[in-house]
Amino acid sequence: MVQNKLHFLSKIADVLTKEVNTSELNDELKSVLSGFNGFRDISLYVFDSVTSTMRDCVNSWSILEDDSDVYKSFATIKGYDFVINSKAYKLPAVISDITLKISTLCMPIVKDSKDFGIMVLEFEENTPVNMEFLFLMKIFSSQVSLKLQNIVLNEQSKINVEFHDSMKNIAKIIETQYELNYIVPIIGEMLDRFITDHLIYVFLKWENEFKLVWPKACNDDRIFDVLSQLTPETEYILSNNDKIGAFPLMSEEGEVIGCIVARSTLEALSKRDIGYLEQLSRQSAITINRANSYSKILQYATIDALTNLNNRRQFELRLWQEIATTKRQKNPLCAMMIDIDFFKKVNDTYGHASGDAVLRGVASIIKSTLRESDIPSRYGGEEFAVLLPYTHIEEAKIVGERLRKAVESTPIDINDEEADVKSISVTISMGLAEFNDAESGEELFERADKALYKAKESGRNMVCTA
Ligand code: GH3
Ligand code: MG
Ligand code: MG
Repeated sequence: MVQNKLHFLSKIADVLTKEVNTSELNDELKSVLSGFNGFRDISLYVFDSVTSTMRDCVNSWSILEDDSDVYKSFATIKGYDFVINSKAYKLPAVISDITLKISTLCMPIVKDSKDFGIMVLEFEENTPVNMEFLFLMKIFSSQVSLKLQNIVLNEQSKINVEFHDSMKNIAKIIETQYELNYIVPIIGEMLDRFITDHLIYVFLKWENEFKLVWPKACNDDRIFDVLSQLTPETEYILSNNDKIGAFPLMSEEGEVIGCIVARSTLEALSKRDIGYLEQLSRQSAITINRANSYSKILQYATIDALTNLNNRRQFELRLWQEIATTKRQKNPLCAMMIDIDFFKKVNDTYGHASGDAVLRGVASIIKSTLRESDIPSRYGGEEFAVLLPYTHIEEAKIVGERLRKAVESTPIDINDEEADVKSISVTISMGLAEFNDAESGEELFERADKALYKAKESGRNMVCTA
């Protein structure tokens, strides 16, 4: 059956020196084994002892169904070298049974002389095998075991590196951000990325009650039971066979200010997940605490810390004043709503720190393009609202178009040594509306906002009027 065993062994050695992932390894092994008559396929499975499930290494570590034969073979193979057609053998014992005809051949994947998984080789029905072949397979299985352990470790450490990069990224964001409704989704999405088998919920405590702040809904009442058990001394709580984990967010004064919850209906949290959740909830608590104390200070501020434009509060106040003046003096007044196009992509591609730099850049273009008497504000996120006193809609269109072109043609410098690019170009969409005496300031901006929506709908990088 063996065409050339030295050739086979040297090909295996080749595969072992290649840098491959598990699915590439499987393909390589398949091609090496195809030299044997009757060989059809190979599959690799690793047993996850935390969840007691068998994972398919080739199909993105998916879990095998409980009734899969692989579990049976894995139980049978303990202490043996092969399971052949459902029967377990140890090598010297096979020698007496020389007339073996096989259709499946299972071999253990071993780590520290413990079974760590199983490989399943499929052959055409009743393919005859000899001793030499089985000895070769014994070498094959220990080599593959080593390689597989190596890959699994490698993949793990890659995730760890990514995790630490993300932690650094979060730390950077919090230096400039204080809006919880911006920070919380970043934390939620980050956790989602690393705790893949579990749903993540972020709760913050207000007036002694836990309020869900990310994502939008949570319909599992058991979570609220767990939350009610949290005390300032709690490190974390695992419940429902470790399928729900609650990690409190603590203030500097040692009070519980919120909680991060991971929940699955299938999977228990692994040691690794728990480690990540502990670190991330600690980091998140620092972020949230800082945001809270910032926002207390900023309650009385009028300027947005990131862009140096008026903040939302100041905007509301100025709007109210300008509407009063306009009504009294019968001057024209226009409203301008601006939204950066595809801004999420800027964050996703270059990181949030670069996104912040772009916001600052766009704000500075707005300021330098408009007149001294115009009143620009950061409305929220990547949206800006501008009041244009003494301006009719026709003039506003000219001003708006000039601003749109200025943003389009000005690359914004990114002063970040860690960023891959020096500058980023963006475009904006804009909605304009002129005040009419019958409406309120709010209604005026609602119309400008509708016009902005029209500009987005019609293809972006565009000025539309109400
Ligand atoms: P569209 O053209 O439809 O406006 O697409 P968009 O991606 O700009 O729209 P969307 O409203 O979905 O995304 C806005 C993004 O702005 C999402 C949010 O993460 C980001 N953002 C909001 N505030 C800040 C901030 O202060 N800094 C940074 N870097 N990003 C922010
Ligand atoms: Mg927006
Ligand atoms: Mg946008």
